[in-house]
Amino acid sequence: GSGYVERLVEGLNPQQRKAVEHRGGPLLIVAGAGSGKTSVLTRRIAYLLAAGGAHPGQILAITFTNKAAAEMRERVADLVGPEASRMWVATFHSICVRILRAQYELVPGRNSNFSIYDGDDARRLLGIIAKEQGLDVKKYTPRYLANSISNHKNELVSPERAMDIAMEDGDRNAQTIAAVYIEYAARLRSANAFDFDDLIGETVDLLRNNPPVAEYYRRRFRHVMVDEYQDTNHAQYVLVRTIVGGGASEQGKEEPEFSVPPSELCVVGDADQSIYAFRGATIRNIEDFEQDFPNAETILLEQNYRSTQTILSAANAVISRNEGRRPKNLWTASDEGSAITAYVADNEHDEARFVAGEVDRLVDSGDLNYSDIAVFYRTNNSSRVLEDIFIRLGIPYKVVGGLRFYERKEVRDAVAYLRILLNPEDTVSLRRIINTPRRGIGDKAEQAVVAHADVRQIGFGSALRDAAEGKVSGLGPRAVKSIAAFVEMTDGLRGRLEGDGHAAGEGSLPDIGDLLDAVLDASGYRDALQGSNDPQDGTRLDNLEELVGVAREFSSEAALRRSADEVPGESGGEDALDAELDEGLAVPGSLEAFLERVSLVADADEIPEDDAGEVTLMTLHTAKGLEFPAVFLVGWEDGLFPHMRALGDPAELAEERRLAYVGITRARQRLYISRAMLRSTYGQPMTNPPSRFFGEIPDSVVEWEREEPQRSSFIDSDYSAPRRFGQDSGGFGGIGAAGAGGSRFGGGSSRGIPKAAPKKPALELELGDRVNHDKYGLGKVVAVEGSGTTARARIDFGDYGTVQLMLIGGVPMTKL
Ligand code: ATP
Ligand code: MG
Repeated sequence: GSGYVERLVEGLNPQQRKAVEHRGGPLLIVAGAGSGKTSVLTRRIAYLLAAGGAHPGQILAITFTNKAAAEMRERVADLVGPEASRMWVATFHSICVRILRAQYELVPGRNSNFSIYDGDDARRLLGIIAKEQGLDVKKYTPRYLANSISNHKNELVSPERAMDIAMEDGDRNAQTIAAVYIEYAARLRSANAFDFDDLIGETVDLLRNNPPVAEYYRRRFRHVMVDEYQDTNHAQYVLVRTIVGGGASEQGKEEPEFSVPPSELCVVGDADQSIYAFRGATIRNIEDFEQDFPNAETILLEQNYRSTQTILSAANAVISRNEGRRPKNLWTASDEGSAITAYVADNEHDEARFVAGEVDRLVDSGDLNYSDIAVFYRTNNSSRVLEDIFIRLGIPYKVVGGLRFYERKEVRDAVAYLRILLNPEDTVSLRRIINTPRRGIGDKAEQAVVAHADVRQIGFGSALRDAAEGKVSGLGPRAVKSIAAFVEMTDGLRGRLEGDGHAAGEGSLPDIGDLLDAVLDASGYRDALQGSNDPQDGTRLDNLEELVGVAREFSSEAALRRSADEVPGESGGEDALDAELDEGLAVPGSLEAFLERVSLVADADEIPEDDAGEVTLMTLHTAKGLEFPAVFLVGWEDGLFPHMRALGDPAELAEERRLAYVGITRARQRLYISRAMLRSTYGQPMTNPPSRFFGEIPDSVVEWEREEPQRSSFIDSDYSAPRRFGQDSGGFGGIGAAGAGGSRFGGGSSRGIPKAAPKKPALELELGDRVNHDKYGLGKVVAVEGSGTTARARIDFGDYGTVQLMLIGGVPMTKL
């Protein structure tokens, strides 16, 4: 009844309510962090379903990560019930995969079993091409080529067009890139593969080249919603526009006439949180929304519901330093809250200890769980030090992104095996594992097969078959035998897949875990690792077993889902299956579905859903859209954050500042910001000046747990007991908070290694020496590196773990 509908807009402020109830023309909601943009989208969906006469199948909501999609789906389901499951709530990439799979017949040169190449696959292929084309691989690195090509794809520039432009401009470098791009596109096609960017670009092409298909999706998706619109790139923008229809016509392109009126579009974003320019995202999409979509309306939200006044003041102060932005008036009705805690650590270990100590304190106080706490850093490699201390102190944590499970070599190898079972022409995957583990198919043999494929104009997989039959010249009998064995092995595995009715989508699907198990055995992969005496191979084996576990779980979940779908009385499971197939969904539990999931795990998706209480560690980039009661921002040092490469570039610096804004605004109640004076980068200790963003936060909202010592030796402080706020804050090194006016970060008279004379002479240690450390206890030297002021030793302190210490005077440690 209307009471129910009324409940859906309950508690919203007038602008939010207006956005939820808005019907008709395109709607843009621009607003600062934590003002309820995502919440409004969610409520809007629920409202459309409950009061707007919309069916779940008519909803298309696009989020930035799969995790965000899952959350949104869940919240809508909470509001309107389980029928919500027929909505499409997904990332751009997932949506495009679904469309491409459903419409593969219209995609030239691909079939429905296409592989999805992620960044690493793409770079591998580009490395191969660069070598073949005789390029200077120091200049044309795979990464550089990948970025250049990605930029083209994000702008929807085809390989041929890229070449035309490069020729017109007479730009040799651009011509080289375009030549690689042309070859790369051809290789992807012959491998029946798409890279991440293609998923978007090919879908755009598909819809543009097939107006009835575009019309079909427009008819279907009457309501389109996009979260984090500031981070869409041009290709994504065109995709949205093509689905919705009714956009202003693009230069030089005729917008065809359709019988279906434009869908209702609602996008939300915040230009101050645009942090993906390096992936081609452009806030132009927000700025030009009103031109792009005639009759568009814009709603501003100004009340922040997430953070305390203190946190908001800090965020506003920092972002206001960016030039050329639209000023915002973000306010909150909530209390001032606690001051922001700032901490200057001696080095990264000290910083990690500080974080760990505060985490313990927050949890011990009973106010927060571990899962309420997050630590954000600028670059992935900052996680390790934190992990070390968390492990030592028994603090449960999870790392999002970073050394991601699915990026490990052995995991990728195993996935490559699975891919070739499904897609026998998947060149990159084939070449990845053809001699892994070693089976006597060397580089030369591989090249002979490549040459054969080239001459015959066939795929690498077909060429391998020819090789197995002795039809490839330049192959010795041993290579032929090995290749024949390889082909036979993969055929056998493939038979397993098909024999179970997999391809037909009928009967029982093979358990992917069992399949993977068989792959590891048949390929000799498991044996090779088991027989190795490299300790790392043990870890690799563990990872593979974990992957088998992941696959098993995947299959049994799917089986459960299927049996739930087949409950008597419900419409036949077959129909449901057909419907899903029509929609481009891989058969649940199938190998396609598994590989799709593996390929599409975006950074933020590594969070296991059962977070029973773990601290979350992640980069600032992955933190977008999330919120936590307590947030630690670590490594606020110029050169680290802002990133080194941004220091001399105002545009990049502005982007880093937006990243700072994103970081600060993730916090609800407590915010901690820290930096280290000395930090090891690639094994070398570096002294880093404070981040300039630190100085942009008003002193009035900061409380110092520990400031930079001005004169005394930082060496002593390294080993003093952890300082707690309230105990001796301000007392450190004799400089009280009353000291410097203005920013206490920027002063920096004594940044770097203090010049004060050490109180004790430096310890001279050798491998095998025994030591006694005041804090860590008895230890044994396991490595010594450097000399003079950079001398350092790794010392195994038993239960405490192995610790690296600078061998400078003042270390509270004696040689035994
Ligand atoms: P971001 O820019 O970081 O993505 P956002 O604008 O999407 O933020 P939300 O995540 O939707 O903001 O909301 C921030 C917090 O405010 C959430 O905890 C949400 O539940 C809460 N919130 C939003 N609107 C209201 C409201 N009208 N009343 C109470 N709480 C609200
Ligand atoms: Mg949001």
